[in-house]
Amino acid sequence: MRIPLIAGNWKMNMNHESGKDLVKKISDKVGGSDPEVVVCCPFPMLLEIGKCLSDSAIMLGAQNMHWENSGAFTGEISADMLLELGVKYVIIGHSERRQIFSETNHMINLKVKKALEKQIVPILCIGELLNEREGKQTERVLTDQLENSLANINTQEATKIVIAYEPVWAIGTGKTATPEQAADTIGFIRGWLKEKYGESSSEKIRILYGGSVKPDNISEIMKSPDVDGALVGGASLIDEDFINIVHFKH
Ligand code: 13P
Repeated sequence: MRIPLIAGNWKMNMNHESGKDLVKKISDKVGGSDPEVVVCCPFPMLLEIGKCLSDSAIMLGAQNMHWENSGAFTGEISADMLLELGVKYVIIGHSERRQIFSETNHMINLKVKKALEKQIVPILCIGELLNEREGKQTERVLTDQLENSLANINTQEATKIVIAYEPVWAIGTGKTATPEQAADTIGFIRGWLKEKYGESSSEKIRILYGGSVKPDNISEIMKSPDVDGALVGGASLIDEDFINIVHFKH
């Protein structure tokens, strides 16, 4: 039985005041039988946002981390630094990191391994570009991303990872994958996990959908039994929208 997860990715938005205000409004309305909820805020806000969430059911997440423990890596943040701030989840390999900051599957693999070693749950992002989908390359691209970013990760470790399928053409564009596209592609990912890690372990791995998730499309997206939740960008910045996504109707 997989627990649904709704994760908000604030990206490079908000400030201390607007961030605190947002999480206060959200945490008042979230809890009980709701899905697990994670808020991934920018690094400088982790301490304050973490304090605001300390009495709530919402967990704190980061948007990136480095794979080394410490050293001469100017501008980077280690897993231990995140742990000190109470971080439980970390987004790894978001398409914006892959595209704008040239992160490779190898770097992403090192980050996933380090997060697992430090017991921070990695939310591993994968997804194809528009021309790859149109060229019927989606499965090849996802296979390559999965094979390389999960290299040398054993079955027991794999069950602790969350995978987020985010078609790059659906991110911030208002173009959501249809529920069928999301279900088919996430079904393909689950099939790949089954081949690699076996049936019972693959059934434990949560797979989220991300890309223009809004209150009015979440229920359809969540209908597929393989879809375990959502990674939400723009709509996670608006309290009412994020709350309505968390409270989606089955
Ligand atoms: P949007 O929900 O704004 O499309 O962003 C999705 C995303 O990138 C979440 O990580």
